[in-house]
Amino acid sequence: MRAAPVTQTRSTCPYCGVGCGVIIEAQDGRITGVQGDPLHPANFGKLCTKGSTLHLTATAEVTRQARLLQPLQRLARGAQPVPIGWDAALDQASKQLARIITDHGSDAVGFYLSGQLLTEDYYAFNKLVKGLIGTNNLDTNSRLCMSSAVAGYKATLGADAPPACYEDIERAHCVFLVGSNAAWAHPILFRRLEAAKAANPAMKIIVADPRRTDTASLADLFLPVAPGTDVLMFQGLLHLMLWEGWIDHHYIADHTTGFDALKRLVRDATPERVAQECGLREADLLQAARWFAQSPATLSLYCQGLNQSSSGTAKNAALINLHLATGQIGRPGAGPLSLTGQPNAMGGREVGGMANLLSGHRDLANAAHRAEVAALWGIPAVPSAPGKTAVEMFEAAADGEIKALWIACTNPAQSMPDQRTVQRALERAELVVVQEAFATTETARHAHLLLPATTWGEKIGTVTNSERRISRVRAAVPAAGAARHDWQIAVQLAQRLETRLRPGRPTLFPYAIEPASAGAQALWEEHRASTAGRDLDITGLSWERLEQGPQQWPMPHGAAQGQSRLYTDGVFSTPDGRARFDASPYRPLSEPVDARYPFSLTTGRLRDQWHGMSRTGTLGRLFAHAPEPRMHMHPQDMQRRGFADGELVQVSSRRGALRVVLQADDQLAPTRLFMAMHWGSEFLGGRGEDGQPLLGINALTQPAFCPVSKQPELKHTAVKIAKVELP
Ligand code: SF4
Repeated sequence: MRAAPVTQTRSTCPYCGVGCGVIIEAQDGRITGVQGDPLHPANFGKLCTKGSTLHLTATAEVTRQARLLQPLQRLARGAQPVPIGWDAALDQASKQLARIITDHGSDAVGFYLSGQLLTEDYYAFNKLVKGLIGTNNLDTNSRLCMSSAVAGYKATLGADAPPACYEDIERAHCVFLVGSNAAWAHPILFRRLEAAKAANPAMKIIVADPRRTDTASLADLFLPVAPGTDVLMFQGLLHLMLWEGWIDHHYIADHTTGFDALKRLVRDATPERVAQECGLREADLLQAARWFAQSPATLSLYCQGLNQSSSGTAKNAALINLHLATGQIGRPGAGPLSLTGQPNAMGGREVGGMANLLSGHRDLANAAHRAEVAALWGIPAVPSAPGKTAVEMFEAAADGEIKALWIACTNPAQSMPDQRTVQRALERAELVVVQEAFATTETARHAHLLLPATTWGEKIGTVTNSERRISRVRAAVPAAGAARHDWQIAVQLAQRLETRLRPGRPTLFPYAIEPASAGAQALWEEHRASTAGRDLDITGLSWERLEQGPQQWPMPHGAAQGQSRLYTDGVFSTPDGRARFDASPYRPLSEPVDARYPFSLTTGRLRDQWHGMSRTGTLGRLFAHAPEPRMHMHPQDMQRRGFADGELVQVSSRRGALRVVLQADDQLAPTRLFMAMHWGSEFLGGRGEDGQPLLGINALTQPAFCPVSKQPELKHTAVKIAKVELP
């Protein structure tokens, strides 16, 4: 028999916010290869280790053991789940949700989504929860990733719109990387930066990070900023720029407000104080201030080091202050460009897939915005009560206030801070539904219902990357087993709930389930219409135009193409068109180190793993770079405390403990520890002193969050460390 021809399908990598274009090769309904798409402007054909092994993680031999292939029901806590049909599963879910809503009100349910979902999935869920169920308890793991960047942009520039683009990497004369290990977390962008530096050796690269990461290896100047002190460092840089006369007074006068208050605030951020509290040298601060302010074009790239903080919004805004004060914005090569961790954190924001947002970058707190969305959806009103954000949602479930949790495409039992609270929430909730591609997650163990979802290579829709570029996601193979698309599951649940919650009324969810491309397109068109007149207006970007290649937003009606840079005319998205300086004071860490917990633990990514490893953990070769969990510690600390490299230790915080092997690492400053976030109980194993399973690094991390963005402080936990006496 002749083999079926190999097909090639253009799509997008599902891992990080770089959003690289891929070409998926498939044969006989199986993915057989992957290449970088040479026409995609994010990567021009290149892929990193994770992207280039996507086809291997998708092969049947590897993935099918991990894939969830049919709906399952768990009849008793701790029991093995048993198969159930799709209709029965959705009927049961809608019946139980309706009962909880009737008995306890709409706010007794919570939906927790993922930046891995496509924009169309997010749109359907948002309409289901805020439009039909009538609660704003919908949040996402993007809350852990970029909500501080959102809040920072809105506070200063007036809209959640990154003003720069990837091409600015090649156009910049100075690149300031802060709290970003792009070499590992955004490898293709880092390669672009390496190439730009090679082409222009005069380019200055400054890296500020508590760890001397691989990214720092490219730096002309490395600033080992102490954890949590970034706001003070930025204030100190502004102090120096003012003192040296490196401020752009014309730009400030013509395009901004609030500089006088900021000027007063940074008076105290003297070089001596900043150097001492941030752990930096005064000469390095002066050099950084000079390069930033005086380079013809300065681009900042930043990520979780700023975002995952109890001062996350203030950190973002303080960095943007520097761009506004020096006029380093709205020009080629200049501007603050936050890097999103996940492939569609940006798309989720666009459709309002967070507790405080509504479709088309509208704000829940704005009555006019709520009325606009209610009119778009054809409902009397969108509820005004603030929804619970990620940490708040699981705390409310642990307290019994939220009684049903619907979790799609994410693994909060591993990835959320303060794991014991999350575990209590999953144990206490009357209904836990997990909609997932993988059956192997920690969260899946708690599910009453497990609903199989499609994943990369099978999904249809769109995603938006860190530079506002919308790309198509296309199916190269059919859905595995009985898996359905996430938006299909949301719509089919919604249609069932409608018969219970608003019987006899026309459906709010008139989307074709099959063919899936028609339903996805209909959701896209509804989202597109909702952006009319908004900062992200894509009314000029039809589905057909998107078929021809990715485009950046905004792209309003009549535009020939999307806009690569924003604010080029100096007019911002604020009511008066002026950017706002943010004068938030510097606040120290929420959980300072002390005599009992003397180490500052930070978490981060490995180069070749992704999140909870549900996909990358299926492939042996991706463990070559980092084969096992390790706690990194400075050799001086090890010597002082009598630890040896490779020794098993117990690391404890005020919330939990973890047993892990030590690794000497002089890239950290003394009294700081680092451990990758990916390792779950499968790799750590065993039980702590309290008899509970060891869940991973988030057994230790804290639930404190930024009061504005509600993003948790995952980059710092006060911990202690002790030897483990082996029997
Ligand atoms: Fe995928 Fe990110 Fe690597 Fe690009 S850089 S191939 S999007 S993981």
